[in-house]
Amino acid sequence: MPQTRRDYYEVLGVDRSASPEELKRAYRTLAMRYHPDRNSGDPAAEERFKEVGEAYQVLSDPARRRQYDTFGQAGDGFGSPGGFNFQSAFDLFDMFFGGGQVGRGRSGPRRGADLRLQVSIGFEEAVRGVTRTFEVTKPAACEECGGTGAQRGTSPTTCTECQGRGQVQRVRQSLLGQMVTVEPCPRCRGEGQVIESPCPACHGQGVVDQRKSIEVQIPAGVDSEMQVRVPGEGAAGPRGGTPGDLFLVINVRPHDLLTRRGMTILYDCPITVSQAALGDTVEVPTVDGSATITIKPGTQYGEQLRIPGRGAPDPRTGRRGDQVVRLRVVIPTKLTERQRHLLRELSPPDGKPHPVRRGFFEHLKDAIGI
Ligand SMILES: [Zn+2]
Ligand SMILES: [Zn+2]
Repeated sequence: MPQTRRDYYEVLGVDRSASPEELKRAYRTLAMRYHPDRNSGDPAAEERFKEVGEAYQVLSDPARRRQYDTFGQAGDGFGSPGGFNFQSAFDLFDMFFGGGQVGRGRSGPRRGADLRLQVSIGFEEAVRGVTRTFEVTKPAACEECGGTGAQRGTSPTTCTECQGRGQVQRVRQSLLGQMVTVEPCPRCRGEGQVIESPCPACHGQGVVDQRKSIEVQIPAGVDSEMQVRVPGEGAAGPRGGTPGDLFLVINVRPHDLLTRRGMTILYDCPITVSQAALGDTVEVPTVDGSATITIKPGTQYGEQLRIPGRGAPDPRTGRRGDQVVRLRVVIPTKLTERQRHLLRELSPPDGKPHPVRRGFFEHLKDAIGI
């Protein structure tokens, strides 16, 4: 059931400049308020609990916060590295409050593991998006027993310890006062069922390694170190559990001429001293073929031109950035006697250069994004 995910800052009720302390305070308040032990059986509270956990997990990590600030969650299948789930929310809560004991009982089969796959794609493929097929060997439901883990002709039986609930109740003291916590049943490890005669093909696991080919649409605009989530293509859950997700960890191979800073594509364009002084029109490469730019007479080293809409797209919205062309005046190293003479003619009478215009370095910084 796809859901529109809310902005992490909005979830925690803080503004975008919030300090780590403010984030921590907001998380603490909300995690306490929505903890399922205080909101028994309220699915809305459970959802909020998970949501604040996920938001805090991302925003409390400086590297992931920076990535989030730049790229956001990037819609479906994106920006949730690690596959944040309900259990993760508890793990985080335990970690945060130093409890380590506030275990959440789970019943039923366990979810399969998330898998990660390193994927190398070309610069232009990253900008345009690409469909790739991968051969993956991963745990899949055992065909011999249909994924139950029980030998053919037998079936798992209900656990007598927990009567199939998969969890046992325990009363304990905690930071939140006295709480009734539910913990996984030790006999069936929370699964509610036990297998008397395990399937010989999968040794009762219900899963065996299988080779599978998976086709994935990698969205336009991805960049190195981003992850693309492919829901349900991780490892199958043992004994009928839901499968985990597959995460493609993207590596973008460098381009010969172009580089990227987020949505901006950069090109260093060499021009001659005469082109800089007199102006010219030149062809420059872009990811959409070549484009013509006009160099103004009197262009200085490092001046930049912007080609709108020729950058990389934002993977969420598809809106494209710009290409920035940095003009690099190349000073000749070999001169004929006549050229030497002409260049001497160019020298001002006092032999000193004109001052560089104010604001020049500021422009440079803006465009490169540093
Ligand atoms: Zn089996
Ligand atoms: Zn049990």
